[in-house]
Amino acid sequence: MAMAEVLEDQAVRQIALNVKSAGGGMLAEELSKSLKQEELEGIIEQLIEAHFIMREYAIICQKTQKQISRVQTIEAIDKAAKLGFVCSCGRPYSEESIKELFRPTSELKRMLDKSLWATARLVSVLGKLGIQDSQILLNLEEGPNEVDAAVDVDGLFLMIELKDDEFAMGHAYRFGSRVSIYKPHFAVIIATKGIAPEVKDHFKRADQKSKVVDIEHLNELDRALCKVVDEARAQRASERGPACRKTWAELYYTRPPDEQAKADPGATDEQRP
Ligand SMILES: [Zn+2]
Repeated sequence: MAMAEVLEDQAVRQIALNVKSAGGGMLAEELSKSLKQEELEGIIEQLIEAHFIMREYAIICQKTQKQISRVQTIEAIDKAAKLGFVCSCGRPYSEESIKELFRPTSELKRMLDKSLWATARLVSVLGKLGIQDSQILLNLEEGPNEVDAAVDVDGLFLMIELKDDEFAMGHAYRFGSRVSIYKPHFAVIIATKGIAPEVKDHFKRADQKSKVVDIEHLNELDRALCKVVDEARAQRASERGPACRKTWAELYYTRPPDEQAKADPGATDEQRP
C-alpha cells in the first residue's frame, strides 16, 4: 500500500489521471503541456517505479503515419529489424519513427477509482496511531471522490469524511446532517483540494456537540489526525467510572434503515451492513 503515497502529490496524480483517461496509451508528448520536461520526467519515473504506468514504444510508419507495432524496449525494435521485420511500406522497423508512450496498469485504475489511494493513506496513518483495521469501518461512496470512515478510538467515535476534491457547501450540508444523526465525538473533514471558506464559517456557526476538525491538505494528515486521536484518548482517559458505552459500531449502524436513508439519501442499502 505504500506505493499509493506517490499519488498524494497533485501534479503526479494529474499525470496519472491523464494516462488513465487515455486507456490504451498516451504519447509522452501529450502527457503535459504545463510541466517542465525535467519535472515531467521525474513524475514519470515515480509512476513507473510504483507500477502505476508502463512505458512502451510505438512504431509509426513514416509514410502512412499509422502505428504498426508496439514494443516494451528499444532493444526489441533492433532485434525485430535484425530478424527481418519490415513495415508494409518496406522499411525495417528501426527506420520508422518511434514514439514513447505510457499505459496505465490495472493497479493504477484500481487506486484512482473511488480514490482508493487516499483511503490507503488514511488507513495507513490511523495504523501508525495504533488503530487497528478492525476499528475502522470504511464506506466507499458510489460516486467518485468520496470516502467516509467510522473509527473507534478507545470507544470514542470519530467520523471521517475524505473528499478527493474541494469540500464545498453542498458537501457541508450533507455532512452536517450525518453528524447530527450519528453524533460522533469528533467529525473530521479531509479534502485534497481544500475546504471552502464558507464551509468553515458554517461549522463555526452550527450548533452541534461534535467537534469538527478540518484538514485541508494531505501532507497535514499525519499531524492533524494524531492531534485528534490524542485528544480523543485524553478525553476518554479523563472520564471516571465505567463509561456507559454503546459501542461505536452500534452508534453508527443500529439506526433504522429509513432513518439512515433520510440522513444520507445518496447511500444505497447495499452499502450499509
Ligand atoms: Zn512504413
